[in-house]
Amino acid sequence: MAILIVDDSDIVRDVVKQALNLYGYKDTLEARDGVEALEKVKKDSSRIELYVFDVNMPNMDGITLVGEVRKIDRSTPIIMLTTETDKDKMIKAKNFGATGWIIKPFDAPRFIKVVEMFLKKT
Ligand SMILES: [Mg+2]
Repeated sequence: MAILIVDDSDIVRDVVKQALNLYGYKDTLEARDGVEALEKVKKDSSRIELYVFDVNMPNMDGITLVGEVRKIDRSTPIIMLTTETDKDKMIKAKNFGATGWIIKPFDAPRFIKVVEMFLKKT
């Protein structure tokens, strides 16, 4: 089972991927924006067990992406990993079906704790 990491920053995707690998989650997929992510979700949603989305991205932002993914996959957890602290955006993402919200800077142990919490629930 795979974890899909979506962020327009190569560095952030890399750091998230390395943290997941370190904690035993070796199967990761990556996308640079919502459009690319949605293509991967359409192809691979059955093997994705967790989504990690940035909010601010070109082409399609992370909040729109949540809405689009939920048309295809209603139950897999979606964690928003973002610098965004705008309450309205948080509420919108939650209403669209996002499961969690983590504020950058990225803190690997804290992130993995949330990952494990959501993977246990499903
Ligand atoms: Mg971004």
